[in-house]
Amino acid sequence: MQSSRPPFLVFGAPQIDEAEIAEVVACLRSGWLGTGPRVAQFERDFAMFRGVLPQQVAAVNSCTAALHVSMLAADMEPGSEVITTPLTFCATVNAILHAGLVPVLADVDPVSQNIDPSAIEAAITPRTRAILPVHFAGRPCEMDRIMDIARKHNLVVIEDCAHAVEAEYRGQALGTFGDFGCFSFYVTKNVVTGEGGMIVGRSEEQMARARILALHGMSQDAWHRFGDKGYKHYQVVECGFKYNMMDVQAAIGLHQLSRVEVSWRRRAEIWQRYNDAFAGLPMTLPAPAEADTHHGHHLYTVMIDAKRCGIERDEFLEAMNDARIGTGVHYLSIPEHPYYQHRFGWSPERWPHAMKLGRETVSLPLSVTLSDGDVDRVIDTVHAIVGS
Ligand SMILES: *Cc1c(COP(=O)(O)O)cnc(C)c1O
Repeated sequence: MQSSRPPFLVFGAPQIDEAEIAEVVACLRSGWLGTGPRVAQFERDFAMFRGVLPQQVAAVNSCTAALHVSMLAADMEPGSEVITTPLTFCATVNAILHAGLVPVLADVDPVSQNIDPSAIEAAITPRTRAILPVHFAGRPCEMDRIMDIARKHNLVVIEDCAHAVEAEYRGQALGTFGDFGCFSFYVTKNVVTGEGGMIVGRSEEQMARARILALHGMSQDAWHRFGDKGYKHYQVVECGFKYNMMDVQAAIGLHQLSRVEVSWRRRAEIWQRYNDAFAGLPMTLPAPAEADTHHGHHLYTVMIDAKRCGIERDEFLEAMNDARIGTGVHYLSIPEHPYYQHRFGWSPERWPHAMKLGRETVSLPLSVTLSDGDVDRVIDTVHAIVGS
């Protein structure tokens, strides 16, 4: 007999409301698709949201671009070392390489899964110029200690806030501690534009440079060039990149950003239901949020230790998929990948906490699109897999 198959729960599916759809249609009808008034509005809204000045933000077409341009605008000499975490998306490390800099990995704390400030200190050499912390899963890194280290050694700090658009550490928005904060609006992130990113920078001078670098190195952006003020000549003042955000993307982001608080509350609710439902199971759950922090609740990661759970992590992923539930792995540690092994001679064992986490971690669905029934289905399925 044909059993009725439940719909596949797409991991990290974005919630797209009628407001976004109407705004995109209005943008298309306006005839202005590229960087223009909607990007400018999105930048203003984002600056307000994070409590910075409008000239301290720049919209770009990805967080990867934001990281790249930030490191260039920080003006570090080629070959400078940048200390980052091995438990991150490859884009973090690739951006360091694209900027002509050298990534140096410092292991994570096994509980918070964030870069361990003591490991940062141990990784400092005479060539170290920057620290690039990643606020993993939306959990703020220990910014007090990281900023102390940076001040002591005169280091640039670039925060990867891809998971943490709404997160705060001791009442201060993430992305505003360091010289730069880099945000992602990729489809699975907490605020979505399809592809998109934002740079937040402390120095207006460096931000002006970042804007120029993000659009071909041109001194005026296209909006000003073709706007109703008449044609404006531009000058190419350096060899920049094609990293600008489109108005079509900003049209989505404007409404996503206005719902950021509502979306967070729904994810926090799902998070709590998972915590309650899984408390008795033999798998490690995410650590509670640290006091005086606002956790972004971007990823709900559980650890599948084969000895405790009676099932390998990859078998767990397969069992979830068989139950038509999409999951994620955030992340296999950076030195697990052949490119970095070949280029730097890295092996995962050198960063044992990140290695172990990367081999055991599973991200369960945490999208605001999940209904209560969907959440029940995830809970029942996890119980069926590891609860026996
Ligand atoms: C998604 C992500 C990025 C890259 O973001 P894009 O906008 O896709 O370039 C960088 N760092 C981390 C930690 C991410 O999760």
